Amino acid sequence: MKILEVKNLTKIYGKGDTQVCALDNVSFSVDKGEFVAIVGPSGSGKSTLLHLLGGVDQPSSGKVWIDNTDIYDLNESQLAIFRRRQIGLIYQFYNLIPILNVEENMTLPLLLDGKKIHQKHVTDMLHALGLETKPTSLPNQLSGGQQQRVSIGRALMSQPAIVLADEPTGNLDRQNSEEILTLLKMFNENHNQTLLMITHDEHLALQADRVITIEDGRIMKDERIR
Ligand code: ADP
Ligand code: ADP
Repeated sequence: MKILEVKNLTKIYGKGDTQVCALDNVSFSVDKGEFVAIVGPSGSGKSTLLHLLGGVDQPSSGKVWIDNTDIYDLNESQLAIFRRRQIGLIYQFYNLIPILNVEENMTLPLLLDGKKIHQKHVTDMLHALGLETKPTSLPNQLSGGQQQRVSIGRALMSQPAIVLADEPTGNLDRQNSEEILTLLKMFNENHNQTLLMITHDEHLALQADRVITIEDGRIMKDERIR
């Protein structure tokens, strides 16, 4: 089953002489449960692609369907709701809210959505992430690897259609990077969680099911490796 469909996606920044074509007519689709790594040189358009898929930015042209919803067809408030429920975002620098503790950061998207928080769900998630002793810690009391695990929990609590991770290990050492990847793979394999991950790290990319290589805003390679 197709969970993501990208059709002729183009993004041009700026105007006139300073115009940059960051994405040039990109099309691909992803099946439910796939783990896709997106690689390519710096400036090739990877972050632009993820921002467009996350509905954080609008394309110059082209369309994106996530779980059968044409995301650029939604108005602002519909998109905000759709993103909270169906798109999990994980960033290089975690983007946790400093005054909220681990549990509060993780459950914030559900609260904003007016959902009832089931304590068992929270406890299970803390356990899966190895954060069972840290529910009341603040982000600045945690290591980088622990903060990234909180942000994974926040992205996954609503069981979104897709998780988009932009260099999730970019700020971590080798051991923490491996641990984060192991966690992401566990959610991918045990919960059929669809996952798109940008990475510079070839070793991590090779642990995905499929590697898409982007150069100059175009897909140069799209290989299934598992
Ligand atoms: P990557 O994530 O692969 O490093 P980006 O998507 O960040 O690539 O950038 C692709 C191209 O678009 C680069 O040439 C970059 O300079 C340009 N770009 C990215 N964001 C903007 C922006 N907000 N305004 C203008 N140019 C941008
Ligand atoms: P193709 O047969 O060329 O691969 P697709 O099956 O990918 O075409 O898509 C055909 C058309 O169906 C798209 O242009 C779009 O209008 C629509 N479409 C594709 N995927 C979805 C989706 N997940 N949800 C809703 N409409 C979709």
